[in-house]
Amino acid sequence: MEIVTQSVSSHLVRQLAAEVGFQLAGVASAAVVPDFDRFRGWVDRGLAGEMRYLTDRRADVRSDMNLLLPDIKSVISVGILYVTVGQATSPAGSGRIAAYTAGEDYHIVIKRRLETLAARLSEHADFQWRACVDTVPLLERSVARQAGLGWIGKNTCLINQEEGSYFLLGELLTTLEIAPDPALDVPPPDRCGTCTRCIDACPTAAIVPSPDGGFELDARRCISYLTIELRGAVPEEFRAAIGNNVFGCDICQDVCPWNNEAHRGGDPRLSDLAALTEVEFRDRFRHTAVSRAKYSGFLRNVAIAMGNSGMTEFREPLEWMAAGDDAIVAEHARWALDRLPRLT
Ligand code: SF4
Repeated sequence: MEIVTQSVSSHLVRQLAAEVGFQLAGVASAAVVPDFDRFRGWVDRGLAGEMRYLTDRRADVRSDMNLLLPDIKSVISVGILYVTVGQATSPAGSGRIAAYTAGEDYHIVIKRRLETLAARLSEHADFQWRACVDTVPLLERSVARQAGLGWIGKNTCLINQEEGSYFLLGELLTTLEIAPDPALDVPPPDRCGTCTRCIDACPTAAIVPSPDGGFELDARRCISYLTIELRGAVPEEFRAAIGNNVFGCDICQDVCPWNNEAHRGGDPRLSDLAALTEVEFRDRFRHTAVSRAKYSGFLRNVAIAMGNSGMTEFREPLEWMAAGDDAIVAEHARWALDRLPRLT
């Protein structure tokens, strides 16, 4: 294909990004990596827990984007919204699954759209690129803030003034020199102000003061970490606070005033989730982010949620889980049974 021009404007990037399905898009220079020292300090103080992809040798790759794409010049930061209007409350006996998991796995969706965006941009210039969706060591929220997509709230989510924080991020790393738009591709001001709703609402007090006077996430306390990333036993001190969250948690976003218009989808029955065989679990969640929890971790989470429900109808599935071969699931099921009223 004939290359029309070698220069690409931030305006063109935004236009093409919207055409391929991104609600948010902006451009950031790759020359600086904002927040790396903050990230390093967070890792060094142990707040990343057992997430090795954040703490091993890959941690320092985040200091230089040339390690991800040689001769990188610009990063196109994009976001897609994921919450659809629906049921706002969770009925008794249901399990909450983080809203971002609804539909096809966002890794697949965003990557496909980033590849389309790269192809569209290639009609205007010749360049190298790499599509990233949560899969490479990159401080993506910081890059997105630099690109003007939002500010990083006290809940550590990126918040967009118009859209709130229910969106997922992706990046197109490029060797293109794209001049940032001085009005749009700039970090917006922090609009949290004196609000502390997310800090007050977090059941496990995972949002903690940071040494620089702001706030940071102690991932070891975060329900998303405990129900998705943590393998093995969930520390007992957090099990009651997990409530009915069986995969991830949206509480610090649900209470955020910038998400006022957002609603959640319906939540599945815990008994239906507990009844899934391993094959059924894989089939149901194959192309969704829930598969990350693995079958054993998912049943462990369902057992905790059943124990927190106070509903005697869950004694039977819990007894069944307690008698199973998986030692971790069995231990959590016994814990849950001890919390439920006994049948008379
Ligand atoms: Fe900021 Fe309040 Fe939203 Fe927390 S709940 S992220 S403090 S605006």
